[in-house]
Amino acid sequence: KILIALILGYTFDKNKISSTTYLPSHETITSLMTNLKLDGELSFHNIHHASKDFGNQFRFLPLAVLYPNSVSDISTLVNYIFQMGLTSDVTIAPRGHGHSLEGQAQAHQGVVINMESLAKSQEMRFHIDDNTSPPFVDVSAGELWINILHESLKLGFAPKSWTDYLHLTVGGTLSNAGISGQAFRHGPQINNVHQLQVVTGTGEVVTCTKETNSDLFHGVLGGLGQFGIITRAHISLEPAPEMVKWIKVLYLDFATFTKDQEQLISSNNSFDYVEGFVLINRTGLLNNWRSSIKNKDPVRARRFVSEGKTIFCLEIAKYFKKEDVHTIDQKVENLLSKLNYNEFTLSISEVSYVEFLDRVHVSELKLQEKGLWDVPHPWLNLLVPKSKIHKFADEIFGKILTDSSNGPILIYPVDKSRWNTKTSMVTPNENVFYLVAFLSSAMPSSTGSDSLENILSQNKKILEVCETASLETKQYLPHYNTQEEWKKHFGSQWEVFVGRKYLYDPLAILTPGQRIFQKAV
Ligand code: FAD
Repeated sequence: KILIALILGYTFDKNKISSTTYLPSHETITSLMTNLKLDGELSFHNIHHASKDFGNQFRFLPLAVLYPNSVSDISTLVNYIFQMGLTSDVTIAPRGHGHSLEGQAQAHQGVVINMESLAKSQEMRFHIDDNTSPPFVDVSAGELWINILHESLKLGFAPKSWTDYLHLTVGGTLSNAGISGQAFRHGPQINNVHQLQVVTGTGEVVTCTKETNSDLFHGVLGGLGQFGIITRAHISLEPAPEMVKWIKVLYLDFATFTKDQEQLISSNNSFDYVEGFVLINRTGLLNNWRSSIKNKDPVRARRFVSEGKTIFCLEIAKYFKKEDVHTIDQKVENLLSKLNYNEFTLSISEVSYVEFLDRVHVSELKLQEKGLWDVPHPWLNLLVPKSKIHKFADEIFGKILTDSSNGPILIYPVDKSRWNTKTSMVTPNENVFYLVAFLSSAMPSSTGSDSLENILSQNKKILEVCETASLETKQYLPHYNTQEEWKKHFGSQWEVFVGRKYLYDPLAILTPGQRIFQKAV
């Protein structure tokens, strides 16, 4: 208990982007270089990328980056640092694709493990003809979801639950949850894995499932990298669809919009994907409607005035096989007939399953071309209980947020009644809650509404309203500066979380960038 007492009571010093170059500890370097016997490489030079992430707000230079060629490389490094005990303040952060928002995969003066390097040395193993278990793929945790999609499609299968963007690693999303428009049916990605291989904070390699080492299994899922480094995962597969009817419709009334969303996620005979987004004060909204999507009634649609208004877009998808091409339109029409959207705003496109799932990558390429992808991303993701979503919308949309041109605002409900609630993921108390994601991009030299400062201040106001109006929201991809805030975030799960830290990473070596625990030295 003494160690835990040391790592509790922690307040993070809020250093933003820092230009400081640190003098690495020569003793640690010499000791790591001479003592570690690795299949891969420990580099003290190729380290600069590991001090960056998608959020582009925090920058901490590590001492070294491990490019592992085997799981044993990872366990050797962790065990070595563990054996150094309290004499060293070196920490270790696994880095997936580095798409964290606030330095969560960084380790200031520590060692970052490049998990994609591990994936290069490990193969994907498909288990689809096995009569004893449902189909799954056994993959490296450093593998990108997009690669898993392409490989599994070659066999006619695919994972069931996704994120909106697939250029993320398995370990990175499983450490959070992995939520997208399929989660209402299949749960988040952490619900669709049934075996993990984990290197704990002592360097021990442990295989865990719901039945064996189940506490570690549940702990690392949504565990923010605190209890172990996931090195392999068994991911559930299903026979893959080939095509997708991708549909968008608009609503002027929030109550009608949410009623339809909630009805869709409660039915077993529904669409396969349900999301939505908020559009505030968008001029000529429908004129800019995605060019690949054809409006049913373009003349009336063009008259749709969006200036000064808050409009809600329901985004839904129905998957199908090519052999169902003659019946799919009727099926979609039947499902749509139960909804109450503004009829003339219906937009339907037909795309391949890969095009649909990899849709955000298309936007990424466009933004990269314009130099707008590597800008600061002060994102705020909230989980809002169903009973509070109307109050939330009243207080935020059109009041705190008067336009949505800094980036998409996603909003869609999920129902956790069928989820595995033993994981470390924190959700509101109600079964149905909304994911509301403010996905802002800040313009580096701007002083206007799209400046980093302005967006951060808007985020702060949103969080303050949630607090003062007792909306009982929880942050997703959480970010806090003090342990008190973390304690509040975890609520009744805090004690279990701390207990697991004590068991699996007693020196608090792992994943310091989450700023939950500080290494005891
Ligand atoms: P990293 O940023 O590298 O790591 C994330 C955290 O996990 C870090 O703390 C890291 O130390 C830890 N970690 C990494 N690998 C491991 C491992 N093997 N074992 C243990 N801990 C590990 N999320 C959703 O749920 N739904 C979405 O639809 C969604 N869309 C997104 C779209 C974009 C464009 C972006 C940038 C992010 C999106 N996210 C979404 C968030 C995303 O899931 C997380 O940021 C995720 O952590 C990124 O994965 P990564 O591989 O880049 O992880």
